[in-house]
Amino acid sequence: MKLYPLFADLSHRSVLVVGGGVVAERKVAALRDAGAQVTVNSPALTPLLRRWVEEGSVAHRPEPFREAWLDRVWLVVAATSDRATNALVSELAGLRRLFVNVVDDAALSSFHVPAVIDRAPLMVAISSGGQAPMLARWLRERLEALLDPSLGALATLAARLRPRIRLRFGQPAARRRFYEALFAGPVASLLRQGHEAEARNDAEQALAAAPRAFAGSVVLVGAGPGDPGLLTLRGLRALNEADVILHDRLVSAEVLALSRRDAERIEVGKQAGNHHVTQAQIHRLMLGHARAGRRVVRLKGGDPFVFGRGGEELEFLRAHDIAYEVVPGITAALACAAYAGVPLTHRGHAQSVRLLTAHCQASNDTLDWAALAQEKQTLAVYMGVGELAQLQSRLLEHGRDPATPFAMVENGSRAGQRVVTGTLAQLAERAVVHAVRSPALLILGEVAALAGSLAWFGAPPLGAAPDIGDGGRAARVRPAARQDDVLAALHQA
Ligand code: SAH
Repeated sequence: MKLYPLFADLSHRSVLVVGGGVVAERKVAALRDAGAQVTVNSPALTPLLRRWVEEGSVAHRPEPFREAWLDRVWLVVAATSDRATNALVSELAGLRRLFVNVVDDAALSSFHVPAVIDRAPLMVAISSGGQAPMLARWLRERLEALLDPSLGALATLAARLRPRIRLRFGQPAARRRFYEALFAGPVASLLRQGHEAEARNDAEQALAAAPRAFAGSVVLVGAGPGDPGLLTLRGLRALNEADVILHDRLVSAEVLALSRRDAERIEVGKQAGNHHVTQAQIHRLMLGHARAGRRVVRLKGGDPFVFGRGGEELEFLRAHDIAYEVVPGITAALACAAYAGVPLTHRGHAQSVRLLTAHCQASNDTLDWAALAQEKQTLAVYMGVGELAQLQSRLLEHGRDPATPFAMVENGSRAGQRVVTGTLAQLAERAVVHAVRSPALLILGEVAALAGSLAWFGAPPLGAAPDIGDGGRAARVRPAARQDDVLAALHQA
């Protein structure tokens, strides 16, 4: 059973508490505190209850419980030590659709009283639905220590300023920015030190001085290859401040989970859902949100400036006078190399690295194949899965050694990472045998041989040895059905 959380306004409302012992006393205290008009029904009372009755803040009925009383109250609490009485009160309240709490009896209760951290007007309530009260209490103690007592004063101050904040800032995003500064800035720290008047002054001044609208902006953030640990601290901060996040399909769910919960998230992957979001549409989205005063994060897989069209987006923003920043990310080549145990440069094996994307169709093939075919350099090839056969034949035609090792990294740094290794002569064939799928990055060069000995993350590399009778490796080969897709992709290329 899952409870519906509810905060009740009981001020000047009648509540009946059946029972007059210490448990009843605790309930009455909290109800009185909330401004309820409490009637206690019990022949005997604790000294404190008696005092409240004498001073007139609590009414008293010493006679046996009467059903008719239920018609005049909003809530009932049964806190006697007699289970039969509690059960009767619970049943009669239920017949009247009146919420009833039976102390320490979840089954007889139609409402539960949570453990509370009171920073009125701010209240934090915790309930385990009566299942694990010790856990709720333990959590309450921890939060009690975490939440400064001055939070109540901060809430009061925010309430006071609220109508004026609303008036001053038309845009919700601007309002939120002002509140964020109020809650985390000097005003909150003055309150923590007990300087309430100064805090009020400071807040008033800040409100008077704040610009009426904030200019929106765009931060281009590199999300890295998937492992959320590879996001930069600056990228994390941008995600926490964002009003809107426009993200690619390649950005992992784990990274997205780190962003502010109420930021609007829009997937603009080139294959988002089933529709196709064009670059022009992405530009329009960035512009529209930034012009509405929002902080936009344009979140891209890897690094925004490596095959990410980040440059085009900045040119667009610049042309439209929108402020921007760029937060680099760990690009797939660096991440895949690290997570496959392949150093991109290595003394004696490679003195240079090239990041390239191989579109081998004649129309947009501007690569210098002769240069790429030279030995002792590492090629990191993005977006290559459908292009491998052509890549392989071009490099061989231009004289790269057929025995040059490669490591193909699929889903680099993610839970399902696979690494397929072999030689240039076997490249396209091995990708088909292992049904390598996007996102995958090809590392080709002498250094790729090190994957065999330096691998540390995820499953061991699928080596170049024959797959049949190789002591279990064949079991890791994908089922044949999927190989058809890859073959088709290879033929299209
Ligand atoms: N801006 C990105 C690259 C975008 S292009 C970056 O800097 O990494 C998309 C290509 O990147 C994919 O086709 C694939 O080749 C590569 N890629 C991205 N993430 C990857 C990952 N986790 N594992 C393997 N390759 C990846």
